[in-house]
Amino acid sequence: MQTKNISKIRSLLPNSNLIDDEEVIGLAKSRLADLLSRLDAFHFSTYLDYLSGSFIPGVWFSDLFNFAYFQLVKALSNNVEVRECEYCGHIFEVTHKRQRYCPPLPNRKRSSCEMANNNRLKKEKNNKEKFNTANLQNGITKKRSYTVLHGIDPFTQEQKRITKSGLL
Ligand SMILES: [Zn+2]
Repeated sequence: MQTKNISKIRSLLPNSNLIDDEEVIGLAKSRLADLLSRLDAFHFSTYLDYLSGSFIPGVWFSDLFNFAYFQLVKALSNNVEVRECEYCGHIFEVTHKRQRYCPPLPNRKRSSCEMANNNRLKKEKNNKEKFNTANLQNGITKKRSYTVLHGIDPFTQEQKRITKSGLL
């Protein structure tokens, strides 16, 4: 398990200025192990099944919290990499290197956070385009009022310049 925010953990410890970063992380991890052991949360019972010619061992958890704590302990002991989802900010276990969002729900191919983020980006892009179009029209209106005020047509002048430089 990696720890990015060392300064925050350091601020929770007394006299933490006397120890280096590695010791701070060590203390935090040992504290986490203490808390999880004290919770005594992951109780489970095992059973054995016989299906299609094979013995299959299984595990029963009394509730979902038991299972969640068991998963957490398993992740800690396997030293898995965890990341923060770029969309919702939840912590997830990394299963492939380029993963940036919470994993997909069961029986789904794509992460719902990834899709929601893509939709948000698309919406932002559309709004930006609408804003630019509105600004452009606003600019044209301004130029027209300039013409009315000063008796000059900036469009014709611009066109003349372009024709002279050989672009048209
Ligand atoms: Zn997420």
